Amino acid sequence: MKYPDVRHYLGGQFAPGGPRLQDVHNPADGSVLARVPLGDGGTVEAAVQAARAAFPGWSRTPIKERVQVFFRYKALLERHLRELSALITEEHGKIAGEADAEILKAIELTEFACSLPQLVAGEVLEVSRGVECRLERYPLGVVAAVNPFNFPSMVPHWTIPNAIALGNTFIMKPSEVVPLSAARIAELLKEAGLPDGVFNIVHGDREVVEALCDHPAVEAVTFVGSTRVAQAVYRRATGNLKRALCLGGAKNHVIVMPDADPEMAAGGVLAAMAGCTGQRCMAASVMVAVSATDHIVQQLAAQARQMVTGRDVGPVITAAAKARIEGYITEAEQQGATVLVDGRGATVPGKAGGWYVGPTVIDHVRPEMKIAQEEVFGPVLAIVRTPDLDQALAVENASPYGNACSIFTESGGAARAAMERASAGMVGVNVGVPVPREPFGFGGWNDSRFGVGDITGKSSLEFWTKTKKITTKWNREAGTNWMSR
Ligand code: NAD
Repeated sequence: MKYPDVRHYLGGQFAPGGPRLQDVHNPADGSVLARVPLGDGGTVEAAVQAARAAFPGWSRTPIKERVQVFFRYKALLERHLRELSALITEEHGKIAGEADAEILKAIELTEFACSLPQLVAGEVLEVSRGVECRLERYPLGVVAAVNPFNFPSMVPHWTIPNAIALGNTFIMKPSEVVPLSAARIAELLKEAGLPDGVFNIVHGDREVVEALCDHPAVEAVTFVGSTRVAQAVYRRATGNLKRALCLGGAKNHVIVMPDADPEMAAGGVLAAMAGCTGQRCMAASVMVAVSATDHIVQQLAAQARQMVTGRDVGPVITAAAKARIEGYITEAEQQGATVLVDGRGATVPGKAGGWYVGPTVIDHVRPEMKIAQEEVFGPVLAIVRTPDLDQALAVENASPYGNACSIFTESGGAARAAMERASAGMVGVNVGVPVPREPFGFGGWNDSRFGVGDITGKSSLEFWTKTKKITTKWNREAGTNWMSR
């Protein structure tokens, strides 16, 4: 086993786990890489105590000093990019370019946190003669973030730099499926000068998440994962009167108009569908092909057939995920859809134990089929045909999810219609994966997000801080008004 010693990280020290352990696999070949300890209420208590002890010192450190840690941390991420990216490939299976991109995005998120002093400068106004109101921001205290398997480093960086730069002390709960990247985050934050206890890691599963939601000293919880669990965590955390922001699953539609640039549309949709093996909440899952778009469908299918599984497309995360994804394809086929490109049973030479599904394109899917409605989370594109844009938007609007929607077109009018009428928090025009870059925030609508605001960007300021409004008068002769005498 390459990583025999996965540990929690409490108060600046790696700490052994208890008796509950779970195997961590390399999805590319099925081998066991590590055994992760699954924490419990006691581990959460230890993390909370460490974070509480660190809070007074860290929160009183001026923000311009706090972000110096993140300037140094950003340089460390850059220096260790290849090493961090290789670790992601090992524990998650992502191909090298995708793993590199994940670290590059983590760097961008850290860069945004470095700019926070410019954004949090307070507001001040003389509200009547000699009387001044000012707004100051304060950190919340101990906060926690629960992460999914599909981005072992990027999603944790949606919360870590902003929450900590804004003065909170932090407990990270990595996905138990990909727990290895977290330790390097801890080591590099420490090397960058973060005081012990400001950042903590508790490994585990549901038991840890529930203990975090229940602990009275945890002020806020973020969650990223499936919709079913996002709802449960949101209810539990807010039921305990905490601030919560819980991002859930997705079913993203790409509308392709007949006037779309064929190269841009075919290439863009394919990359959005097969990139990260379709295991991202921004993956294109349904292509709504409007009217005469056969030439684009054919080009897309031809390009999909040229992709080499194992080289261009990594494995899916577990054997169960492979079985689930292939089940969706088989069911759609049985219900009359046409499998144009079939990734079922894909194998990669030398990786017999790996969990691979090749790029799959299924045409003539009907909107009521399960494959058109449920999150598949694999490299599978369901093509639904509609005669016009109105009906395409009706298909998109019927989804209970609301993460992303894209349109490929040369028409400004069609693009504008999609921008206005898509029922999604992130919309792309001739962009297949419309992930907003900082300082724009990441966040969907409907069943893809529970809570207020986006998880990154300027909106995260509101989530990670509370405001204090202070009114001062120093001069006895200062003016009075109808409110204050
Ligand atoms: P998941 O919901 O199974 O697990 C996410 C986290 O919740 C993990 O840390 C896990 O330990 C914990 N967990 C699992 N079951 C729990 C329970 N019953 N109670 C409390 N905690 C529990 O999700 P996943 O399979 O790791 O990730 C894939 C999902 O995440 C997909 O649905 C994907 O769309 C979604 N996702 C969404 C976004 C977004 O921004 N909306 C981003 C990335 C991933």
